[in-house]
Amino acid sequence: MSLITEIRQRKAILRHTKIIATLGPATDSEEVMSDLMDAGVDLVRLNFSHGTHEEHAWRVKTLRKLSKEKNYEVGVLGDLQGAKIRIGTFQDKKIHLNVGDQFCIDTNLTIDDGDQHKVGTTYKGLADDVGAGDTLLVDDGIIVLGVVDVVDGKINCDVIMGGELSSNKGINRQGGGLSAPALTDKDREDIKHAVEFDVDYIAISFPRDAEDIKLAKQLFLDAGGKAGIIAKIERVESLESIDGILDACDAIMIGRGDLGVEIGDAEVPGVQKSLIDLAHDKNRIAITATQMMESMTYSPIPTRAEVSDVANAVLDGTDAVMLSGETAVGKYPVKAVKAMNRTCLASERRVLKKVSDQRTSTKFERVDEAIAMSAMYTANRLDVTAIAALTESGSTALWMSRVNSAIPIYALTRHEKTLRLVTLYKGVYPARFDVLGRTHAEVNKEAIGVLQRCGVVQENDLVIITKGDLMGDAGGTSALKIVRVGHLIDPQ
Ligand code: PGA
Ligand code: MN
Repeated sequence: MSLITEIRQRKAILRHTKIIATLGPATDSEEVMSDLMDAGVDLVRLNFSHGTHEEHAWRVKTLRKLSKEKNYEVGVLGDLQGAKIRIGTFQDKKIHLNVGDQFCIDTNLTIDDGDQHKVGTTYKGLADDVGAGDTLLVDDGIIVLGVVDVVDGKINCDVIMGGELSSNKGINRQGGGLSAPALTDKDREDIKHAVEFDVDYIAISFPRDAEDIKLAKQLFLDAGGKAGIIAKIERVESLESIDGILDACDAIMIGRGDLGVEIGDAEVPGVQKSLIDLAHDKNRIAITATQMMESMTYSPIPTRAEVSDVANAVLDGTDAVMLSGETAVGKYPVKAVKAMNRTCLASERRVLKKVSDQRTSTKFERVDEAIAMSAMYTANRLDVTAIAALTESGSTALWMSRVNSAIPIYALTRHEKTLRLVTLYKGVYPARFDVLGRTHAEVNKEAIGVLQRCGVVQENDLVIITKGDLMGDAGGTSALKIVRVGHLIDPQ
């Protein structure tokens, strides 16, 4: 029997842009997780840079349990730490650095032995890569350290810009170019964990080029996993090889934290727009990430600038917006999701009105692709209320979602994986629906019935149905049907 929950219906009617929330200590209770879902989270992110295997396992288990209870599909994104160079941990969790303090990054120090004067690092080769006069940016540039000298693996620094510093924060060199390998031993371990958690997306941090993406993908496949591959664009090298990276991945994440440190903060907004356009041109998904509601880590309301930032990402056409520390360690995780939700909704009212001319002049390679694009061309020019895409792998819904439209696309599928994969596609909503053993006439009737029962379509509304001749075959979508709800449907 097909079901969509009431919450999902509300969201489905309302918001097209997807919200990703990072899980962490601040969300580690069933109650908070449940509230996050009710506030409209579409996917959660497990940040493998923080937390233990047990903590992540508990989060996935709890999420899937709640998901089942609420009949509410939530995707899981596993984010590999990658070649991010980080400081170790402090005995007292955090310290405060003042301008003029001496501080040492000691590559020989045990990883968990940091204190007011020194801290270890995840990258033992760091001392070979930096020298006197270099500027190191810690925690996305909040702490600035000037390297005085490097002696026996100890990088001695002057604190140029101080502040609070907690464990595991990232280190970048101004201008980029640190040479740590793309996939670390920890990533290889975490890939196995991600497969065990059955994540729906795996994000590769700091890829230099398509080869890094292909390697991660292969390791994931070898471990028996099935997931969409997300390339995090967060270093100069990934911008330089963006074409190949886009070909090799399913989605990109614009990691504005590290990217901003490498290319300079002022360059980020322009690059964000270009990356979203490039991704869409290649039928890829774009996620805009980092510091979107940063002040909500401590404050119950966002700044006007943060609201504008989320709004502008929506106006740029992003598929998803992401919360990091705001939800993982923030004081107001649920409020942060609500703030994003209302901001996306308000901006979408403006952007979704535009009738897209996307791909009106390109050739289609596949029949299912042609059907998907025809459905959108028609939907945007006829008074259609909803699209029901009967899909196995979700690819029809993906093509459809690349076209700007205010019309919701329901991905009707019997596959758990597909239900969760489409949670990332803009304007696409998963609906459990089994075509097997049903005739075309029954499928037409039932598909409309599902949408009707959920209150997303009513008598006399027009609905587009796409499906294949042989229902249940992936890649087989070959037909587009326009149906008026409540009127006789012919049996094909
Ligand atoms: P991170 O990546 O949150 O894993 O650091 C995103 C970014 O750098 O912006
Ligand atoms: Mn990053």
